[in-house]
Amino acid sequence: MIVTIAIDVPIFQLFDYTWNQEELLQLPQIGNIVKVEFRSKITTGIVLQIKADNSCSNDQIRTLKPILGIGSNLNVTQQVINLCQFSSKYYLKPLGETLFTSLPSDWKKPNKWDLLQKQKLKEEEKSQNKIPNNNKDYEWNLNEEQIESLEFLKQSSKRKKFELTLLKGITGSGKTAVYLTWLKEVLKNEKAQCLILVPEINLTPQLEKIVKQVFGNEEVTVLHSDITSSQRNIAWWKIEKGVSRVILGTRLSIFAPAKNIQAIVIDEEHDNSYKQQDGLRYNARDLAIWRASELEIPIVLTSATPSSETWHKVLQKKISLLTLSKKAKEGASLSKLNLIDLGLARKNKKINAYGLSDKIHEVITQTQKNNKQTLIYINRRGYAPILYCKTCSWKSSCKKCSAWMVVHKKPGSNRKVLQCHHCGCYQYVPQSCQECGNQDLETLGIGTQKIEEYLKEMYPEIKLIRIDSDSTKTKGSAEELFKKIHAGEPAIIIGTQMIIKGHDFQHIQSIIVIDVDKSLYSQDFRAVEKIFSQLVQVAGRAGRGEAAEGANIYIQTEFIDHPMFKALAEHQYDQFITDIVNERQEYQLPPYTHQALIIAESKSEQINNEALNNLKHYLDQDLLESIQISDPTPRVLQRLSGVDRNQILIETDDRIKLQKILEKALDYIEVIKKKSRSIKLQIDRDPIQF
Ligand code: ADP
Ligand code: ZN
Ligand code: ZN
Repeated sequence: MIVTIAIDVPIFQLFDYTWNQEELLQLPQIGNIVKVEFRSKITTGIVLQIKADNSCSNDQIRTLKPILGIGSNLNVTQQVINLCQFSSKYYLKPLGETLFTSLPSDWKKPNKWDLLQKQKLKEEEKSQNKIPNNNKDYEWNLNEEQIESLEFLKQSSKRKKFELTLLKGITGSGKTAVYLTWLKEVLKNEKAQCLILVPEINLTPQLEKIVKQVFGNEEVTVLHSDITSSQRNIAWWKIEKGVSRVILGTRLSIFAPAKNIQAIVIDEEHDNSYKQQDGLRYNARDLAIWRASELEIPIVLTSATPSSETWHKVLQKKISLLTLSKKAKEGASLSKLNLIDLGLARKNKKINAYGLSDKIHEVITQTQKNNKQTLIYINRRGYAPILYCKTCSWKSSCKKCSAWMVVHKKPGSNRKVLQCHHCGCYQYVPQSCQECGNQDLETLGIGTQKIEEYLKEMYPEIKLIRIDSDSTKTKGSAEELFKKIHAGEPAIIIGTQMIIKGHDFQHIQSIIVIDVDKSLYSQDFRAVEKIFSQLVQVAGRAGRGEAAEGANIYIQTEFIDHPMFKALAEHQYDQFITDIVNERQEYQLPPYTHQALIIAESKSEQINNEALNNLKHYLDQDLLESIQISDPTPRVLQRLSGVDRNQILIETDDRIKLQKILEKALDYIEVIKKKSRSIKLQIDRDPIQF
């Protein structure tokens, strides 16, 4: 027999191999993982088609190589193959590469196959001997709004067709409670499975714990980047077999091999971590919608601050909207917004050398007196963003990237180092300026460590807890620090984005936000939408539990009149995001248009631009109407790890036209790939980073 397979190589082509049944001891099946020789190397492939011998001439058959082995019991399901076929076409990546991106990495390694088989048998045995634990599942006493939403979703499942619903509600309004209760209903069908996608950063032990409590008697499979490869293998098997009916995971879980998904939830649908930024640049939210429509099942997106893309669909009535408007917990309250006018503070000399206004001290002192916690939110880790020489204006730029090297204090010592957050390169802070010899180098700007140092000096008696990716590097350290916060002693917490999602803090009364201004007038057209959602998340950390009363958020800004602050103060997200969507129409931006980037990477900007210009010329030749192609521009971070990056932006209001032109671009890219190894061209469809 002859089988057509997709191979784990970046080539847009499928390949035929012969299948020798006597040697392989089984008949081929669609989805089999196989070992083959390809261009004198051993690699893996996936069977996509089975043909009878007589479909090829003998001469043709003689030129074919044989399949060398099969990963017994490793099968890619038809559903996953379909999803990968769509992804491959949409994101313009070879099918083989796409399929193997979707699988646990051990599946690619024939030398691991025996081990996988053993693991599986062991698990099979375990699951057979499993005694049901008759836990009592956790349940909420849902409020009226929640019940209404739940009823709507239940009706939606009954219709057994594709339906898209947005469950919108302020943080703590009980969205999680609603969708988990709904999924429990769905799982009353004994075979049904459900999929809950969460952003990478949101996958806290807290959510995992709640899901496990709610589905007390179900195997909950949790998938994220920190699980071991053996955990991943076992998870894949349990999901495929239907042993695990609840799948909770980050973006890659959209490729989970569940055969009987009846409902999908995308939690915090606006979150950027649903978009993969390299390799197969897919957006898991969008793929989830595709998968739900294929399966004809309901899918629910949740958010306090829906993305403009999703809101656009609400306005077009393509999504049903459910709203939860109150805090679910008795006594919980929304925090009140206070703006600190930096311009005025400066004029009145009420600001210190660190750029912190006097008001911040008032807040810290008062909160301490109230026996509560203050959270200082600054999305910048390290000591200071730049090292600077006042004499000659030298700044600590990275040699390999177009970025500054950030000053960090080494833990446990006073020595400082410079570190590039993009390429990771690293050196001690020089004793003197490398350009002029000046020994008096300064730091510019402020990061979490500098604030920590300053506050320690100002308030030696107050406990300080710093949470950023540096302070939580070692295993278990994040949990340790979170435990300290939950213990409830008055404290100042200094945190980056790590702290703002999914935590149910009970003792934070005051929140101080430093450094939002750069996002208000950024080049990125989505910046305001993003910062709004961050601020709502941050604000949601206060006003809970014991600290419900008198919860306040203070934001330092030069731009107190920015419309975003008004919307934030009045908790008027709908109008705010509607205005943004309308503005996008006016400027012809997504969601009104569809975009794709073609990114060139090489050792020089000149090589990139030449290639991009040639490509543009090639595409321009029969430019379809209403497609815009920009001139080459540098990426926002132009140089990364010694590689120069430039791009052209393709924009149109017609998805089909975009598909066509990208396929044409791909032909060109494939030709370049064969000709030259010194430049790499890639397509990023629906980009969110520029
Ligand atoms: P969201 O997902 O909207 O942020 P959650 O569902 O996590 O909100 O609910 C926030 C908190 O309120 C949780 O501690 C949850 O257990 C609790 N909660 C949810 N619904 C109710 C309810 N009907 N009654 C009491 N507490 C509730
Ligand atoms: Zn100098
Ligand atoms: Zn660098």
